[in-house]
Amino acid sequence: MNPDLILKSALQFEFITAGEGQYLFEHVPTVELMYVANEMRKVFHQDNKVTWIIDRNVNTTNVCIANCKFCNFYRIPGHADSYVTSIDQYKQKIEETFRFGGEQLLLQGGHHPELGLSFYTTLFRELKKLYPELKLHALGPPEVAHITKLENSTHREVLEALMEAGLDSLPGAGAEILHDRVRRLISKGKCSGREWLDVMRVAHQLHLTTSATMMFGHVETLEERFQHLVWIREVQDEKPEDAKGFIAFIPWTFQDADTMLLRIKGIHNKVTAEEYIRMIAISRIMLPNIKNIQASWLTVGKEAAQVCLHAGANDFGSIMIEENVVSAAGAPYRFTSQGIQDAIREAGFEPQLRNQQYEYREIPEMMEQQVIDY
Ligand code: SF4
Repeated sequence: MNPDLILKSALQFEFITAGEGQYLFEHVPTVELMYVANEMRKVFHQDNKVTWIIDRNVNTTNVCIANCKFCNFYRIPGHADSYVTSIDQYKQKIEETFRFGGEQLLLQGGHHPELGLSFYTTLFRELKKLYPELKLHALGPPEVAHITKLENSTHREVLEALMEAGLDSLPGAGAEILHDRVRRLISKGKCSGREWLDVMRVAHQLHLTTSATMMFGHVETLEERFQHLVWIREVQDEKPEDAKGFIAFIPWTFQDADTMLLRIKGIHNKVTAEEYIRMIAISRIMLPNIKNIQASWLTVGKEAAQVCLHAGANDFGSIMIEENVVSAAGAPYRFTSQGIQDAIREAGFEPQLRNQQYEYREIPEMMEQQVIDY
């Protein structure tokens, strides 16, 4: 293979194959990948802005029957520490989020065996009635697939009902690596890769904005990582022209602390900062039909994420007023609104607050600064 020719095609926004992408990843120096990815980013984002968002990750329930081997967050049904979040708890968390300048909940939870569609539609309606301006970036393909099975329904019917009740956008959670060999090893109880893609395909047909993710650095092969990227790209290519589809792609690294994968199988996250930066660059190169690439400072830390902004990433994600899933597996990093803007400026860019549709927002005039004490 000729890397120069492949990179030339990439710069013309052509789809390069999984094999070509892997070849670049294995043979081309990091600075060259960064250069090409950065040039591609500049086509989408001509200003010098890096976007960020204020939102809060709230969990509907920690009860889950999926038993993912990288997850320290869930509890089995009936466990003494299991919970379903109450409306009073939502109220307290939402009002605090508004005070910190946020307008959205990232609302996710486990696969509860008894919470079907009406639980979520009632919850969404209640929250929207209490806070009409609140945005719900909620659930994800595995939860939609789980609800669909509980209801013996279809992805379309479930998504339509959730949208009707107030779902504003669908996070790309639970993709991990979409190849089913990997899913059998780490998340057997979750939806298959095919189901994940189908939920997203249907969401796009319904003009529901989504995002896509990849959690890597565990049991997957490089081939499987690249297949994952190609599948995401194909679904994005099928979306209706006037739908946003996958508005962003967010790759992050497996957080191993105290997970079953580490304890029983001895699987460590061995992804270095340089490998993460290369994956960001290659994501931009492999996904020329997705406008936003987000660097996950939460899992790789501030410095590596700052370099990613010169390697094709244009978004720094959320300050995450509360995050319980990745943090439960060891991700130690935190940002306040001020901290995330300082980090973006330090990297040479202008911070720009956005919403989940990636539209620019003004920073609210009256806004409390969060104190990080957890
Ligand atoms: S990652 Fe999600 S689906 Fe998997 S065990 Fe944890 S809560 Fe359940």
